[in-house]
Amino acid sequence: MSNLKLGWAGLGNMGNPMVSNLLKVGFPVTVYNRTREKEKEVVEAGATSAASLQQMAIDNDMVLVMVSDDNAAKEIFTGDNGLLSGEVSGKLFINVSTVSPETSKILEQACQKQGAQFLEAPVSGSVKPAQDRMLIILVGGKEENYQKAKPVFDALGKLSMLVGPVGAGSAAKLAINYFLGVTLQGLAETVLFAQANGVKVEDMLTIVNEGACGSGITKTKSPAIQKEEFPAAFALKHLTKDLRLAKEQGIQTPLSTPIYDSFKQAQDKGLGDQDVMAIYSFLK
Ligand code: NAP
Repeated sequence: MSNLKLGWAGLGNMGNPMVSNLLKVGFPVTVYNRTREKEKEVVEAGATSAASLQQMAIDNDMVLVMVSDDNAAKEIFTGDNGLLSGEVSGKLFINVSTVSPETSKILEQACQKQGAQFLEAPVSGSVKPAQDRMLIILVGGKEENYQKAKPVFDALGKLSMLVGPVGAGSAAKLAINYFLGVTLQGLAETVLFAQANGVKVEDMLTIVNEGACGSGITKTKSPAIQKEEFPAAFALKHLTKDLRLAKEQGIQTPLSTPIYDSFKQAQDKGLGDQDVMAIYSFLK
């Protein structure tokens, strides 16, 4: 059992398994989710439901936030009755959602204004790595805050890295998710090209996964391609958001625009709440 009292806002696909792991290693965790019914699973596993975001921040030493995007994170931190609306000096706030480096810096300033500390810590890895404590946590902020949060990061992932000041962790996250977008688009195009020329989908996936081009992500997504069923582990709309943020952050490489356009068009066709690998359905 840890002495560190944790608050957690956001119990979506990622928040749920991450909080479960914190509970398993003995952290007392208080949780808040906008749709309160979604707290049920972790409350049954031992978490406490917060009276409000404001009260959760007042009552705990460290508060982590795992919500959809920049606007959601800003609302959770700085909205009326948000995390920073009460007396929070000396507390440490950690945003683990994927947002732009600029939003991270805004959140850091908002925390500092209230005498609180801030880290950004977006994670690389989806639901399965979250369940298996195999996430990679990309931290931006001060070394002393990173050291304070390290026991929490150790309970959530296999590796945490302090990559620089606030902004650097988000930049690293946008870079790795750009690679994810390129990989998934490439996998979908490869399989569809092979199939159009008489190769079975199953055979092409075996050729990819048994060879040098196979990777953790191609192996993880292959069963979904075979079944053509894409329930969200990582919703396509979130990757579209990350590719947009990478563009806004200045990526101008040859593939950056077509890859973003492809995922954006898939989202506009109604595939945003499906898994990222639904890019295959869109291209098909
Ligand atoms: P998700 O399943 O869509 O859950 C989103 C969460 O954000 C829900 O708890 C939702 O609350 C909350 N939320 C959204 N808008 C809000 C608002 N305005 N105010 C308060 N709460 C709000 O998303 P996820 O897959 O867990 O992803 C969360 C973050 O992690 C995203 O930034 C994503 O890019 C990143 N990420 C995801 C993965 C992955 O594989 N899924 C991997 C790495 C990083 P409600 O329940 O009330 O809607």
